[in-house]
Order: sequence, then structure tokens, then C-alpha cells
Amino acid sequence: MKNALITGGTSGIGLGIAGHFAANGYNLLVNGLERNGADIAKELAAEYKVKVVFSSANLMHPEQIREMVQQAEQELGQVDVLVNNAGIQYVAPVDEFPEDKWDAILAVNLSSSFHTSKAVWKGMKERKFGRIINIASAHALRASEFKAAYVAAKHGIAGLTKVLALEGAPYNITCNAICPGYVRTPLVEAQISDQAKAHQMSEADVIEKVMLKKQPVKQFVDVCAIAQMALLLASPMSSQLTGTMMPIDGGWSAQ
Ligand code: NAD
Repeated sequence: MKNALITGGTSGIGLGIAGHFAANGYNLLVNGLERNGADIAKELAAEYKVKVVFSSANLMHPEQIREMVQQAEQELGQVDVLVNNAGIQYVAPVDEFPEDKWDAILAVNLSSSFHTSKAVWKGMKERKFGRIINIASAHALRASEFKAAYVAAKHGIAGLTKVLALEGAPYNITCNAICPGYVRTPLVEAQISDQAKAHQMSEADVIEKVMLKKQPVKQFVDVCAIAQMALLLASPMSSQLTGTMMPIDGGWSAQ
């Protein structure tokens, strides 16, 4: 039985990945800021008959990240799979972009993945097995206006992914990024209203003319597709699959 640590595992895409991993027999540490995180962990454990522990570590703080990884190692035994999924968004033109939002987005969407990866690295290296999966974005490959911090952080994740793949190669540690297009999660629900203000459009027009305009397959991406890709990347069979940026974006990045 393998263990996975999933940041932001108590909402949206991360929760979907947690459910699929639990259904496939993984023990989990799920992390997130949701107030009912401990209840979510209990429900996953009861439904899938695996061990699920919860951490409310705030990923803005590297010392809390290190404590979270220690908790996973103590309560699960070891971390075999790390899914760096937690993320936040803020939408504004660059000249109005609040500096504290820039700092927070870089901290949560980029730096936290360095700190988690560093903290699990020693154990993965010793055991000669590790799978690091970064939930990046189509915005790791393409830009959109009004998202300076998010696009910069996600492009940064692309670089981190490739470096970890190179450094992990001698130790059977792989690192890959999944790059989803729009997925209808709480993060996107908030963006629909923010984008409506920024573009001065109705919310229905934002969905049709701004978001899905870039996705030739005119549907939001299904969380299950992302979770299935994460399971494949986590598999011991995927040792040659490393350093990639996997788009699941309805054809967005084909353009
Ligand atoms: P979400 O808002 O549903 O979930 C985000 C999770 O991150 C939550 O559990 C939240 O508590 C956690 N989180 C946020 N800040 C944190 C912090 N400081 N410390 C600890 N946890 C924190 O969002 P989602 O849409 O499921 O997004 C998950 C990931 O997928 C993000 O990295 C996002 O950028 C990426 N992504 C989302 C979409 C989309 O369309 N939803 C598309 C591409 C990529």
C-alpha cells in the first residue's frame, strides 16, 4: 500500500484526486484551509477503508509545510507520492494588481511546491522511489491578460518540474506537471465573478466568451480526467515518464 500527500486535497481538483487515490488503496494526508477538512478526511477514510489524515498547514509558511510532511511521515510511515495541488487566483490589470496578492500567489502556487518537494526528497531518495505531481495549469504554457501573478507562478512550476525530474532521475523520483484548462471548482466560480467585473461582462458571457473561448472542446475539464492522469503518473510503471507538462485542456494549448 502506498501513501500520498495532497495539498489542497479538501476542495475542487485536490479533493477529486484524493477520492481517486483512496479508491485505489492509497493512504493519504490531505491538506487544505477548509474548516471541515478533518471531517472530509474522516469521510474519505470511511468510504474507501484507507487511512486519511488531515493537515491544516498554511502553505504560505515554510515551517508549517515541514511540520505537515513530518506529520505524514509519522502517521503514514512515508510519503511515496506528493501532489502539489493547492492554489489561489487573483484577477486584475497589472497596474492595479495588489502587491500582497502577487506575494501570496507566488508563495502558495510556486514556493510551497519547492518546500514540499524539498521536505519529501530525502526519504524518496533513500527509498529510491518517489512521484511528484504538480497541478499546474494551461497557464503554465499560455498566458491570459489580468493574471500576472498566476501565469508567472505556473510558468515557474514548469521550470521546477523539469529541474526535479533531472535531479530525481538517478533515484527513481519522477516529477511531472498536469496542465488543466478550466475546471468548474470553487476557484473558478470566484474567477467568473472577478472576470465579469474586469471585462465588464455578464457571468454567462465570461464563461462563453472569455473562459471557454480558449478551449476548442467547449466544456469545462472533468476532475476525474485529472485524477486519472495523476494515478498514471503515480504508478511504479511510469518511471520513464518524467519532466513532462501534460495538458488536459480541451485543445487550448494546441493553438
Ligand atoms: P479550489 O479553490 O477548489 O481548491 C484550492 C485548495 O487549495 C483548497 O483546498 C484550499 O484550501 C487550498 N489552499 C489555498 N491556499 C492555501 C494555503 N495558503 N495553504 C493551504 N492550502 C491552501 O481550487 P481548484 O480549482 O481545485 O485548484 C486546484 C489547483 O488546480 C490549483 O493549483 C489551481 O491553480 C489549479 N488549476 C485549476 C483550474 C481550474 O479551472 N479550476 C485550472 C487549471 C489549474
